[in-house]
Amino acid sequence: MDYPSVILKPKEEGRLEAGHLWAFSNEVAEAPANIPAGALADLFKSSRGFLGRGFYHPHSLIAFRILTDQKDQEIDQTFFEKRFTAALEWREELYPENHAYRLVFGESDELPGLIVDRYGDFLVVQALSAGMERLKEVIIPALEDVVLAKGILWRADATLRELEGLPIEASQVVFGKIPPRADIHTENGNFAVDLFGGQKTGFYYDQRDNRRALAAYCKEARVLDAFCYSGGFGIAAARGGAREIVFVDSSHAALELAEENAARNHLQGKFTCVEGDALALLAAEPPGGPFDVISIDPPAYARSRKHLPVALKAYEKLNTLAMKALKRGGILASSSCSHHVDRELFLQMLRRSARKAQKSIRLLELRSQARDHPVLLAMPETEYLKCAIMEVM
Ligand code: SAH
Repeated sequence: MDYPSVILKPKEEGRLEAGHLWAFSNEVAEAPANIPAGALADLFKSSRGFLGRGFYHPHSLIAFRILTDQKDQEIDQTFFEKRFTAALEWREELYPENHAYRLVFGESDELPGLIVDRYGDFLVVQALSAGMERLKEVIIPALEDVVLAKGILWRADATLRELEGLPIEASQVVFGKIPPRADIHTENGNFAVDLFGGQKTGFYYDQRDNRRALAAYCKEARVLDAFCYSGGFGIAAARGGAREIVFVDSSHAALELAEENAARNHLQGKFTCVEGDALALLAAEPPGGPFDVISIDPPAYARSRKHLPVALKAYEKLNTLAMKALKRGGILASSSCSHHVDRELFLQMLRRSARKAQKSIRLLELRSQARDHPVLLAMPETEYLKCAIMEVM
């Protein structure tokens, strides 16, 4: 099959030749007119050398997303089956005990703009690129063939879709049946997941390794899980021997999940739930005195580069308050999921917070996203999560 050709401007191929999968709109010299958003196309250097086959979008900042650098590769159901099989093999190796993981992490799995999370027998899919949305009818049967799922849910409510001109819509069951709640078993405990209404696709798998790392510091500890969502950090802390957990979230639905999950993991009598602003709670004298361990895991404050200055101030304020709310020698796990706040900016922000809080900090671990969300080294855009575990003196 012949695909339309998209040609880069001179000298724009370097990043792509090094393994990056995107060409930006200002780097494109020529593209056919009237090509629909997300259509399959071939990308060439200005010297006409082949770079890859993938999705072209005439109106997105990300003009081209490469799926393959193989000239004769058809983009059909077999192609997706191969990619899904490779993704599945890696996750089964990582988590042989349970079917609970991010199965496909977009570009890092050579599937730009496609997310698939596995919750036991159920899969939740997010198409974040117009190209993936267009190939829905090929992707669904490929997933059915590779994973023995009982149901597949196609979620179309992520705001990132707007950047690709995709509508924000209600989720759709595209295969089998989807229950309102799925049960997952992970290395950090058992969780109920709200598949239709939960945040993202229902659960934050990206923090799994960080939860486990924090749990090692929680023996006999009094722990604050601020921005708890469904309780991931607090429940892991309890597994690590914590004596008491306080869960805080501003969302009522999130706290209901946290409470349900606390009960599932036998935390009865050990936990309390507080609905409200985590900053207000940290600023007030905490009832029961300072904490031994605090996790702060706020939503992305910097959605784009232009939000960076305001976001850094907000992170600084939050971290200062958290440092002050700890006992001497207490442990702070501070997370940021804003891609635009890179490691260096994150560390600088922590230094400023420490100075404001008048604390001396020992950085014990500087962590990233879990291994089911691997970073593609050639694409810094695939790294977004930072989690610093610190001793606060
Ligand atoms: N730590 C969680 C994920 C957190 S996502 C986990 O491990 O699964 C961020 C959470 O912060 C969301 O649940 C959101 O409802 C909550 N949130 C946002 N603003 C908040 C605020 N000001 N105070 C408390 N919670 C807030």
